[in-house]
Amino acid sequence: MGVTLPRKALFDIPEGVIYLDGNSLGVLPRGAAARVTEVISQEWGQQLIRAWNTAGWMALPQVVGDRLAAMLGAPAGSVATGDTLSIKVYQALAAALKMRPERRVILSDAGNFPSDLYMAEGLIGTIDKGYELRTPAPEAVMGAITEDVAAVMLTQVDYRSGRMHDMAAITARAHEAGAVMIWDLAHSAGAVPVDLAGSNAEFAIGCTYKYLNGGPGAPAFIYVRPDLVDAVQPALSGWLGHDAPFAMERHYRPAMSTERMRVGTPPILQLAVLEEALKVWDGVDMADLREASVRLSELFIAEVEARCPQLRLASPRESRMRGSQVSFAFEHGYAAMQALIARGVIGDFRAPDIMRFGFTPLYLDEADVISAAEVMEEVIGQGVYLDPKYQVKSRVT
Ligand SMILES: *Cc1c(COP(=O)(O)O)cnc(C)c1O
Repeated sequence: MGVTLPRKALFDIPEGVIYLDGNSLGVLPRGAAARVTEVISQEWGQQLIRAWNTAGWMALPQVVGDRLAAMLGAPAGSVATGDTLSIKVYQALAAALKMRPERRVILSDAGNFPSDLYMAEGLIGTIDKGYELRTPAPEAVMGAITEDVAAVMLTQVDYRSGRMHDMAAITARAHEAGAVMIWDLAHSAGAVPVDLAGSNAEFAIGCTYKYLNGGPGAPAFIYVRPDLVDAVQPALSGWLGHDAPFAMERHYRPAMSTERMRVGTPPILQLAVLEEALKVWDGVDMADLREASVRLSELFIAEVEARCPQLRLASPRESRMRGSQVSFAFEHGYAAMQALIARGVIGDFRAPDIMRFGFTPLYLDEADVISAAEVMEEVIGQGVYLDPKYQVKSRVT
């Protein structure tokens, strides 16, 4: 089938901005503002509490979950939405550990996003049964999957470097060793083709405000392999994961579906925005998207390396090893990124010295990539970043 990318007209992107940070916070889909206004004024404003039924609010987490499932190669009903990714990390990991009660090791990698590792540490402290979190170098993960590992929890695409793990191969190795596999798809969903059912992983989690453009604080998602859902024990046993929330039973009885991974009241405004944002993906073939992403990324690497010899590529050079971002290491990376942002080229910075650039083919084209590289040549080549005003650190980098 295939569609023509990009689809810029479906987004509101400020004039003069080349946005290379869709891997961190996606851009605003054009329909989002109207949709949220409608939900606020018509549904909340007029229908009030009736809207849980009349406007389909109660079903919205599942409607959105099914849309995500379709994008991730998962069957309908296997993805629940809500909360934040950090919460979903906790839920998946707690459930996985319960599935291997005789084992005491959680295996991740040293490149994983801090919150995933922090949540694991918090869970270990709460359980207080001598669990250990091992974080070998990403390249050493395969060899570290030993028979004492209860759960392997990895982020497929590294947030700093863009390096991509082989989901199928690592999942197969985890299963061979008797471990439960959890994939964090924060930098995969909407960025690279994902075949969740095909991977056979037990759990997957991710957020929707990066490549999926759900907006700041958009709900996270969790996938549970359908054959396991009835056996999974939710650690966060909130009423909306109950089989019959409005029966108000004295004891928790989990829903007989992925819905048991719901916790409390769903964020309706955010879910409505996300539902709208996902419409942009109608008819998008992920293989086409991937091809465009690789083309843009390769062009960017070639242009930047030719124009800015001071920068060192910090992403894998081989495109099949990379997600949809390109990172360069530069000693003055923070200040250089500030100078780029001041000129309308928006990427971001990750300590200690990484300049990150996300490639989102839905709203980027080759002309954007060339323009961005030209601005980088000016900022780096002419030492623009040395201006003291670019050295001031903000809370969010
Ligand atoms: C972005 C990201 C997070 C952020 O978690 P939140 O709870 O949504 O703030 C966590 N893990 C990974 C791997 C991420 O990329």
